[in-house]
Amino acid sequence: MTTDRPVDDPACTPVRPRTRAVRAGIGTDPAHNAVTPPIYLSTSYTFDRLDQRGRYDYSRSGNPTRDLFGEAVAALEGGSVGCVTSSGMSAISTTVLALLPAGGTLLAPSDCYGGSWRLFDALDRSGRLKLRLVDFSDASAAASAIAEGADLVWLETPSNPLLRITDIAAVTASAHAAGALVVADNTFAGPVLQRPLEAGVDVVVHSATKSLSGHSDVVAGVIVAADAERGADLCWWANALGATAGAFDSYLALRGLRTLHLRVAAAQTGAAAVVELLTSHPAAHAVHYPGFGSIVTFEVADRAAVDALLDGLHLFCLAESLGGVESLISHPATMTHAAMPESAQAAAGITDGMLRLSIGIEDPADLVADLRAGLDRI
Ligand code: PLP
Repeated sequence: MTTDRPVDDPACTPVRPRTRAVRAGIGTDPAHNAVTPPIYLSTSYTFDRLDQRGRYDYSRSGNPTRDLFGEAVAALEGGSVGCVTSSGMSAISTTVLALLPAGGTLLAPSDCYGGSWRLFDALDRSGRLKLRLVDFSDASAAASAIAEGADLVWLETPSNPLLRITDIAAVTASAHAAGALVVADNTFAGPVLQRPLEAGVDVVVHSATKSLSGHSDVVAGVIVAADAERGADLCWWANALGATAGAFDSYLALRGLRTLHLRVAAAQTGAAAVVELLTSHPAAHAVHYPGFGSIVTFEVADRAAVDALLDGLHLFCLAESLGGVESLISHPATMTHAAMPESAQAAAGITDGMLRLSIGIEDPADLVADLRAGLDRI
């Protein structure tokens, strides 16, 4: 019997991203030749002698299970190092702390994820950084905001919840010309649909809680740097801050990652069917969908219409989050973006009649029927 060779064995022919995701760590168990890599829960690793230590010593600093997931995401994003953190927010806070000099200027999207906005705003109010917000989908507004000076440019595209698109390569080129580093939160599109590092971005962050793990049972994050030295520095910060993820979460996330490409394809088929319904139904006033991905945002008349639609949905759970196998519906104004005051919500284009869907992998016909019944109730 032969043992499968690991896909990252230099002697192997390079494989495509989908194969890479499926095969991450498969057939690499040195102890028993287990096909699926084992989970290493131990906090500590024995030193052979005082001057002779193995690759791992303490699990906050390094863990074999966590490393497999980080390496797999880094390979999918086309980066050098993947640092796995305890949440998307810890990936974001670690990255900001590591890359932004004290008192530096952070230029972020006006409609970024509400939790990112809350963190950036709090750091600004406490004098740790200067936050400026801009609509990066408006190329001239983005160019003049960058020209005014920034140390770190933060991108999130498609944006949340309006799914506005930023020209990553153009913004990155002008940010670099102005001497700023660029970070992209790639949670929404993910590496199957969009690889910001290929467009010149310096660092990608993820909420791995979403489509990377894909089953709504893990809270985790990933930081991937294009440059190996910067990646090592970010991992150093994640360890110093205690932001690294646990082994069990990393194990579940790696398990979910194996089906990422299949889940993304199925969810996109469902999203296309839902968009077709929404664009033809008179109760849906506006539909925001960039033409790819599994997130669809739409607007109904007002809060009363929202309540009528929600009351009786069977297949869309009223819940925050996205990117799982099950479909969800959320009300950004009172849920994901509740931390934003009304003025910031208005500036970001968030209305009271806005709903965001995360399309799962159920049969699209069932999702359409459930949503049509909801729209008919308005
Ligand atoms: N970035 C985006 C785009 C998100 O949607 C989220 C969570 O919804 C986060 C970051 C934060 O991730 P986590 O909830 O894993 O901390």
